[in-house]
Amino acid sequence: MNSLKDNYQRTIDYLRISITDRCNLRCIYCMPSEGVIPIEHKEILRFEEIVRIAKIASGIGVRKIRITGGEPLVRKNVTYLIKEIKSIEGIEDLSLTTNGVLLLKYAEELAEAGLDRINISLDSCRPERYKEITRGGDISVVMSGIAAAEMAGLKPIKVNMVPIRDFNDNEIADLARITLKTPYQVRFIEFMPFGTDNIWGPEKYIPADEIKSIVESIGPLVPVTLRKSGPARYFKFDGAPGVIGFISPISHHFCNDCNRLRLTADGKIRPCLFSETEIDLKPALRGGVPDREIERLIRLSIEVKPEGHNIRVQNLTPGTGIKLREGCRWQMSKIGG
Ligand code: SAM
Ligand code: SF4
Repeated sequence: MNSLKDNYQRTIDYLRISITDRCNLRCIYCMPSEGVIPIEHKEILRFEEIVRIAKIASGIGVRKIRITGGEPLVRKNVTYLIKEIKSIEGIEDLSLTTNGVLLLKYAEELAEAGLDRINISLDSCRPERYKEITRGGDISVVMSGIAAAEMAGLKPIKVNMVPIRDFNDNEIADLARITLKTPYQVRFIEFMPFGTDNIWGPEKYIPADEIKSIVESIGPLVPVTLRKSGPARYFKFDGAPGVIGFISPISHHFCNDCNRLRLTADGKIRPCLFSETEIDLKPALRGGVPDREIERLIRLSIEVKPEGHNIRVQNLTPGTGIKLREGCRWQMSKIGG
């Protein structure tokens, strides 16, 4: 089987595909209240273009694909795309990241189409706060969606929270307690300097070690080794059915083990989340080139994948480094988180 190494001897076998920049929520740390200027429909990759890229990527070593967005479930016929990608030889793991709003409607269809796993973003379990964070979301709909995903066999269910200081950090323990009763993986992700409203600030950011110590106020954590752990460090409470993960892109860089590429909704391969370098596949795709030219561009994006990023909180403090508050150009909903 083909395997793809970059210049730093990392095996690149994971492609995250954003299928839309549109969303049915407006999370305060991700999008402005009025939404963003959407990418024009004609600029968004068609499903057959996405499938073609996925096939070529699998032919050179990609084994895992995650569908994301924006909110992937707002795009019509997403189950068709899941079926098509699932049938590609060499793809061993197909997952999707969602805000859960449409899961009740689609969970079963997605599982039937061949989706293996699902990640659901949940930054609060309190109805009022959830509504505030998402600018209007209804937590009860998401909870029903999570239950539907579990019923449909989309396991393990991963619930992702982004703790923000003085905003939802007093729910870290509540989220962690979910693992005492369910087999879910609850993962805490450090708040990253993205988002067009620029609400990020060093004073809002909580390092993973601090999040972990808050979780440990419930009880001691024991380390857990999972077969596919990715960038998360996993732990559990003694005897608990679920596990807890900490993802620390800022405080503990995991660049040494980075195995991924991202494909934006408008067809650009982004080799590193934190770098603006992108290789545009669309002109080639729409210019009628043969597969080997698309393959060459994907290989090129791996060749330019940086060794790591140098985002550190001290660099982000206003006045000392990258000034994100003044004109942050990174937007998770466009890149595909
Ligand atoms: N709409 C889907 C969702 O919310 O799960 C998928 C796309 S969303 C951009 C993917 C993930 O990015 C979510 O888990 C979200 O919490 C995360 N995200 C967005 N902005 C972030 C930020 N500034 N810092 C950390 N995570 C962020
Ligand atoms: Fe939408 Fe996901 Fe961004 Fe929230 S985090 S606004 S659900 S894309």
